[in-house]
Amino acid sequence: MNDTKPLDVIVAVIGGGAAGYFAAIHASGPGIEVLLFEKSPKVLSKVKISGGGRCNVTHRPMEITKLIKNYPRGEKFLKKGFAHFSIEDTFTWFESRGVPLKIEEDGRVFPKSNTSQSIVDVLQEEAARLGVQLRISTGIKIIRPSETGFLLQTDQGEMVVSKVIVASGGHPNLSSYEFLKLLNHNIIKPIPSLFTFNTPQEPIRELMGIAMGDALVKLEGTKLSYRGPILITHWGISGPAVLKLSAFGADWLHEKQYTARAIIHWNADLGEQDYVEQLNGYAQIHPNRKVGSHPLFGVPTRLWEHFCSKAAILEPQLYGQLPKKLINKLVQCLFCYSVGIQGKTTFKEEFVTAGGLVLDEINPETLESRFHPGLYFAGEVLNLDGITGGFNFQAAWTTGYLAGSSAKESLKM
Ligand SMILES: Cc1cc2nc3c(=O)[nH]c(=O)nc-3n(C[C@H](O)[C@H](O)[C@H](O)COP(=O)(O)OP(=O)(O)OC[C@H]3O[C@@H](n4cnc5c(N)ncnc54)[C@H](O)[C@@H]3O)c2cc1C
Repeated sequence: MNDTKPLDVIVAVIGGGAAGYFAAIHASGPGIEVLLFEKSPKVLSKVKISGGGRCNVTHRPMEITKLIKNYPRGEKFLKKGFAHFSIEDTFTWFESRGVPLKIEEDGRVFPKSNTSQSIVDVLQEEAARLGVQLRISTGIKIIRPSETGFLLQTDQGEMVVSKVIVASGGHPNLSSYEFLKLLNHNIIKPIPSLFTFNTPQEPIRELMGIAMGDALVKLEGTKLSYRGPILITHWGISGPAVLKLSAFGADWLHEKQYTARAIIHWNADLGEQDYVEQLNGYAQIHPNRKVGSHPLFGVPTRLWEHFCSKAAILEPQLYGQLPKKLINKLVQCLFCYSVGIQGKTTFKEEFVTAGGLVLDEINPETLESRFHPGLYFAGEVLNLDGITGGFNFQAAWTTGYLAGSSAKESLKM
């Protein structure tokens, strides 16, 4: 590879994903040559498959103080970045380029077209319009700081560039970060985040398909508990409450080798005493109704029957004659249902890597390395990740924007 351009105008972006594209687009400008390296033959592969093929681009606009709470890792770091490029900016960026977005009831934001291809297309069109040069099937083997910038060793040969933006994504293996080793940045061991819990020993699995709209799920032995919809699957438990718990409990669960206990409170609005009072109240009004066939608290019939069987409430049991002991047992099922977790399952709609580049070694305003001026990082390669709902792409847009525009700005000096 023989590039004859003056060295001080070449910006190399490593990784053709969401963060890499956004960085490349924002690094572009008159007299700046931006080279985008992607090791695989395809760019934007994750964007394409994301959100079940619809791409959950971001989340409903919210204040930064609230937004950062959706990042188990990187909360403080991203606070600075969001002050420069936040959810509203994501809306403006895509919509002003002909990709209208829509907010769904749960706050997730998708392109109105309902296909991720709209996002892939606009990123590719914008990069092409700005003259970003794509080098696909070109993996970076090593980055070596040099006096004039950085020497990049690729599959195809070597070249020197003055600025480098690393946007190589998250990877489950530490070996994927090997190409960064000469930069002396520290890397936190990558582990998975956003997964569902397997409960192979629990009879509850037989109730697959049942959902409760507002549960509270806790991890026994921690202070972690999250609220939201819960879904029983063939393998165990899933849904937003479980995914949130998997993200905030990623380190702890990894340490425990994904063997733990979850406590489910099926109706987060109700306290233990509320259940008792409402059951007693119902028994007074309908003493001759059978408990097993008259579910309360919005619990689906099959789940209610399961609770009754667990509480040893027999089929003919009437509400009016329900002993206190059995009421208490039923309330235990409703208020603190304990399930054994043994293993995890990747959540196909969205999964991410916790771990990556240590954030303290990077300037959160510019995404520049504190060790090597002219070196920037963006996206999931950093030790930051969000819960499901569009927060991971928002972090990619924000850090990509900052890394790209900071690299560009530094070339003006
Ligand atoms: C199935 C799935 C669905 C998802 N859905 C959503 C969603 O709807 N909403 C959301 O917010 N998040 C979603 N996510 C998470 C989101 O996709 C990621 O957080 C985001 O793609 C990270 O972007 P990135 O650019 O940092 O990394 P990536 O998208 O992983 O891109 C990094 C790129 O760098 C390349 N690369 C790596 N090393 C090198 C090298 N040495 N040389 C050259 N190239 C290299 C890789 O091949 C890759 O193309 C989903 C994730 C998955 C797996």
